[in-house]
Amino acid sequence: MNASHVSEFIPSPDEVGARDLMKFMKHIVIFDTTLRDGEQSPGASLDIKAKIEIAKQLERLGVDVIEAGFPIASKGDFMAVHNIASVVKGPIVCGLARARKEDIDECRQALRPAKQARVHVFLATSEIHMKYKLKKAEEEILKQAEEFVKYARRFCDDVEFSPEDASRSDIDFLCRVVEAVIYAGAKTVNIPDTVGYATPIEFGSLIKTIKTKVSNSNKAILSVHCHNDLGLAVSNSLSAIKNGAKQIECTINGLGERAGNASLEEIVMALNTRKDIFNCGTSIKTEEIYKTSRLVSKLTGIVVQPNKAIVGRNAFSHEAGVHQDGILKKRTTYEIMKPEDVGVGGTQLVLGKHSGKHAFQERLKKLGVELEKNDLISAFQRFKDLADKKKEVFDEDLLAIVEEELESVPETYKLEYFNIKRGKNFQPKATIKLLVEDNKDIEESSDGDGPVDACYKAIDRITNRKVKLLDYSLKSTTGGKDALGEVSIRIKSEFGNEVSGRGTSTDIIEASVKAYLNAVNKFLFTKERKAKAEL
Ligand SMILES: [Zn+2]
Repeated sequence: MNASHVSEFIPSPDEVGARDLMKFMKHIVIFDTTLRDGEQSPGASLDIKAKIEIAKQLERLGVDVIEAGFPIASKGDFMAVHNIASVVKGPIVCGLARARKEDIDECRQALRPAKQARVHVFLATSEIHMKYKLKKAEEEILKQAEEFVKYARRFCDDVEFSPEDASRSDIDFLCRVVEAVIYAGAKTVNIPDTVGYATPIEFGSLIKTIKTKVSNSNKAILSVHCHNDLGLAVSNSLSAIKNGAKQIECTINGLGERAGNASLEEIVMALNTRKDIFNCGTSIKTEEIYKTSRLVSKLTGIVVQPNKAIVGRNAFSHEAGVHQDGILKKRTTYEIMKPEDVGVGGTQLVLGKHSGKHAFQERLKKLGVELEKNDLISAFQRFKDLADKKKEVFDEDLLAIVEEELESVPETYKLEYFNIKRGKNFQPKATIKLLVEDNKDIEESSDGDGPVDACYKAIDRITNRKVKLLDYSLKSTTGGKDALGEVSIRIKSEFGNEVSGRGTSTDIIEASVKAYLNAVNKFLFTKERKAKAEL
């Protein structure tokens, strides 16, 4: 997409707009919102370092637009957008803003370092949102949308507008709003199915109606943003493409509010695999898909379901004998995509005990990770420790190490020691010693229904909290008896907020303890950050 810098001046819009449109005739713009909507997934909060890593990987993946955050929402969001705008060079970096002056000003400041910037303004247009949430009449909403698109255009050449809850809005009113914001200078108009209510045929026809009814619809790129509450986000997005949408908003692994957003990998691979139906393409480097999915899963702590299309562990495995037989005879009998097209199957033996720092760093680079000096030193130390316990270190193990390094949550509680006693006729008993705030050791013991439960109860005694474990999953990062165990958990604090935690170790009880401490530390950290933000 053409460069559109944030500047203090009003640029000449229309020529650029027309050229852009030509360029995107058959090109579907991939607008990734993993870092904004995806981060709104319950339990998925990401810190700045993690967001930058994901943004860099999205750049390698080849997305056209990265929605990096909602700058006015918090200091952390502002900084994330600002820092991503500084490091990302290829994709357009986008910030979200309500149709309000303060939001747009904040967004503009956050995007200042961007090579190519976009301000995304939204305002609800459905009766239910206007009446109960905004308490405004149609005419006021129309004026507000127009006014703030114009305001945003004063600073930014590239403005996108979203009529929130579009799929439940009155169609005539929606068309009037779309027309007005295009006149006001919006280059992209995004039609969100905010609550995931639409169905494919209906949503496609909504896009078609907007295209035909809105007199200036050819002056802007039509986009869609679908939620997955009925499991229809991808279908609705594809139906929109068939009916003229040229931009898709989506996320890695389909993360997002509630049931999530349309999954980037599913949309891209559907377009690629069924070119005969869709006749359009994207700039996504599909071989980067799997790696991106893994990175996002590790950093958010949200595990991908095994049967998830494209990136699930089972997406390319064939169990039934008759299928295996068919595949061996001719692959296309049961396979419509090649696993290597999305970067699956590349797990190799890469490093061992004798590998040096340089080899370690080079391998990380190949995996798309560049660490700063200090992080690299400590990640290398972890690698050495691991290589002592485990003969072969795989890519997946390296990513697990890096992910722990990137976690910049202060370790208020650190594991010093743990011991489990168990026997045939009595409950397991765990003794745990934690180093608290780097200055005192506290030891506690507890019984439990199993060794992990006993450990968690002992930790609760030390931290003096009532934490509820919502989710616990264990998987091995690679095959083999000495594989690293990776535990992901989600906990709910006594105040009702949810955080996720992860831990890896060759010992699964230790991985479980680390995951729990990670979550508790994260919880304390976010609480502290929130308290600071509220000052
Ligand atoms: Zn959304």
